[in-house]
Amino acid sequence: MKKVILIIMLLFVTGCNKEVKKEVTYKEKITIKIGEEVPSLEDYITSDYCESCTIEWTNIELEDNKVYVANTYEGILKIGNKDVSVNLEVIDDEAPSINNIKDITITAGDKVDLLKDITATDNSKDEIDLSISEDSVYDINKAGTYNIEVIAKDSSDNSAKETFKLIVKEKVIPKEEVVDIPNVPDVDLSGTTTKGYQINRIDGIYYINGILIANKTYALPSTYNPGGLRSEFMTAFNKMKEAAKADGVTITIISGYRSYSYQKALYDGYVKTYGKAMTDTFSARPGNSEHQSGLAADLNRIDDNFGNTKEGKWLDLNASKYGFILRYPKGKQSITGYKYEPWHFRYIGDEATNLYQNGEWTTLEEYLGIDSKYQS
Ligand SMILES: [Zn+2]
Repeated sequence: MKKVILIIMLLFVTGCNKEVKKEVTYKEKITIKIGEEVPSLEDYITSDYCESCTIEWTNIELEDNKVYVANTYEGILKIGNKDVSVNLEVIDDEAPSINNIKDITITAGDKVDLLKDITATDNSKDEIDLSISEDSVYDINKAGTYNIEVIAKDSSDNSAKETFKLIVKEKVIPKEEVVDIPNVPDVDLSGTTTKGYQINRIDGIYYINGILIANKTYALPSTYNPGGLRSEFMTAFNKMKEAAKADGVTITIISGYRSYSYQKALYDGYVKTYGKAMTDTFSARPGNSEHQSGLAADLNRIDDNFGNTKEGKWLDLNASKYGFILRYPKGKQSITGYKYEPWHFRYIGDEATNLYQNGEWTTLEEYLGIDSKYQS
């Protein structure tokens, strides 16, 4: 009889304990917007009881107790000596705003950095990606009024767009001031290169190993006019552009084909401002410009720093897969005759991959064994 009573008492005591120790309930996740205060422990606990509870966040950066980086953060909620994990989702659904947008006026041939004065502000503390949309079609070498669309994107993919006008004014060169340019020497340079390739001249155009050559030694005839970028260039370019787009990189052509007469006006204009010796380091004489070939174009931005941008790096790494070469690499001025131009790409076809090995460019001159020097 005594034993039975004891068992009943024990059951009663255990039952009592259960009622005293109330169960702690909590939210597993709370969602807030960027710039809002981080929720407190009390916001997570849904029961009215939690003995010596604490909450700790990992990898969260707070400014005045607020979060500015969109992410899902993990926290450890300690309930007595039990750890449970909770989440804080910080979302950003606000687009950045674009500031300082205004129309730009230049003279044809001027160098311009379209994004130079534009800034973006955002509710997040992210670096905002500013770019020119691929729908903005313009040519800094051709007079006209172009609509330029700027896109600002934050790391949560919220984006804003603003448009401004790029006004390219005609370059006027009074006839009497036109500098006399040495005529393209009409000497036949056919023969063999130092690498053993045949130099063929067909209709006045030089081809080496099937590649059309336009540099300071080998000029194009003034009558050569493909009328625009050639179809093989455009087909390969569009393929490359699509691949870049898939990687989140926008590639645009800002200057493609230039006629002999246009290049003449451009060169003359530069000579007036910079003198002939200086001009020869960055602008081709008419006939010697690769832009006349319809197989070369300036992409995205004419800016010495372009090679360090996301777009410049992508092109450097991937252009050769699509048949393009960086025509004037860094440190090769004595070989190509031109300063580093991270924006100028030339289409040569399948052989392009031979010129880009282990992250280094070989120049077309080195590859074929030819010079790029004016005769006078
Ligand atoms: Zn160029």
